[in-house]
Amino acid sequence: MSPEVMEKYEVVIGLEVHVQLSTRTKIFCSCPTSFGAQPNTNVCPVCLGLPGALPVLSRRAVELGMKGSTALNCTVQPESVFARKNYFYPDSPKGYQISQFDKPIALDGYLDVLVHGETKRVGITRVHMEDDAGKSIHDGFKDSDRFTYVDLNRSGTPLIEIVSEPDIRSSDEAVEYLSEVKQAMQFAEVSTCDMEKGHLRCDANVSMRLKGAEKLGTRAEVKNLNSFRFLKQAIEFEMVRQVEILESGGRIIQETRLFNPDLGETISMRSKEEAHDYRYFPEPDLMPLRISPEWLAEVTASMPELPQARRARFASAYGLSAYDAQVLTITREIADYFERAVKVCGDAKQAANWVMGDLAGMLKADGKEFEDSPISAEHLGELISLIIKGELSGKLAKDIFPKMYATGDAPGGIMEREGLRQISDSGALEKFVDDVLAANPKQVEQYKAGKTTVIGFLVGQVMKLSRGQANPGTVNALFAEKLK
Ligand code: ADP
Ligand code: MG
Ligand code: ZN
Repeated sequence: MSPEVMEKYEVVIGLEVHVQLSTRTKIFCSCPTSFGAQPNTNVCPVCLGLPGALPVLSRRAVELGMKGSTALNCTVQPESVFARKNYFYPDSPKGYQISQFDKPIALDGYLDVLVHGETKRVGITRVHMEDDAGKSIHDGFKDSDRFTYVDLNRSGTPLIEIVSEPDIRSSDEAVEYLSEVKQAMQFAEVSTCDMEKGHLRCDANVSMRLKGAEKLGTRAEVKNLNSFRFLKQAIEFEMVRQVEILESGGRIIQETRLFNPDLGETISMRSKEEAHDYRYFPEPDLMPLRISPEWLAEVTASMPELPQARRARFASAYGLSAYDAQVLTITREIADYFERAVKVCGDAKQAANWVMGDLAGMLKADGKEFEDSPISAEHLGELISLIIKGELSGKLAKDIFPKMYATGDAPGGIMEREGLRQISDSGALEKFVDDVLAANPKQVEQYKAGKTTVIGFLVGQVMKLSRGQANPGTVNALFAEKLK
């Protein structure tokens, strides 16, 4: 499709995001949710869907649902109702999913998303709680050509589903929104959002309409996207596919589609099911979920600071730019690390530069996260303090930094060991200055003739002679003095 034709249309996107809650046990039984156990070992009559087994709602799961909803600026409802969503699928042993339908746990929230430097508000329609299905395994067995195996360890894992308004207008916005959801859930300690383990998955509803049109187009729903890249690819594929149909006079059919990561394409899976296809009815084995204002207050009071609040505080308390505040709150670990370093040295700007620059670069090259940084936040803070006190030049600090990274040692120890203290004492520096003046008569001439910039060259010579240990400020002053 030519860009001119694409330009005539606007994409409309709404996301349904599934987040696995970080509980130790399942939502309706006490089986563990741990990952990687032998297939079908973390199971019991409840999560196997055996007749007569009764679900018991996990208090912890509800608390995480409350926290998640609050982190999305939603209103937690005093009463919500679990419902049976009936469908047959081999990995769903009960023959229905226990979810919430017309009375979900929370309604009406939003997230503010920073896209290409501008803030955009994406509305959140509702949050509901539900249990996860098991897993069908289609390959890896010697008879996989004939059989599909089922592992029910995941059956009954607690999830929240977060449904957005159709407010998203580009694939980039969708990616930023999902990343904002992920951050909010991680900061609120609702979920680890480990995408490789399927803790965060999303369905993208995508439609196209002519720019300026009021009415929404017919949407396709692309199921189960488990990475940011796949989300972006799936949306961009859908945009072109739908415009091609519309431009050739066709109509979009409302359907559910699957993304094929190898081809970067979506394929039709089934025509879109309607709510009545699921024969929803209230789950007779569970009471309506009642959340008192006291309980809600208690749970929200225990919530850690959320990304948006933390970003705002980083900007106001430390004078960081919106961009720096954004980068330093990508994860709680980086935000905590930065604040611990500032606590030691008191210089937020320098701490931000080291954390986002040298340290982030080295960690990235090693595939490490901030929580396993070989340089502790305290040691980085000490390094910056040494610069501030003039005991280290910027240059020496840059030399010491990789050594701190390699050994995990404090900067002071490395300085002692390697004799790398900055020389600020003018008596000690005077000898260097005199030597450099004697060795560079031409530059001295030029300086006296008014070309004062050669002082930079002269200072550089002293830095070289002193193996980077001379305090450049003191050296500068000494030259200025002597050349007067
Ligand atoms: P369902 O549960 O059947 O998928 P919902 O009405 O709950 O339907 O909507 C699911 C998602 O689809 C929501 O995120 C909503 O914003 C989005 N959505 C609804 N209509 C459109 C549309 N025409 N284009 C894009 N997204 C849409
Ligand atoms: Mg849907
Ligand atoms: Zn169980």
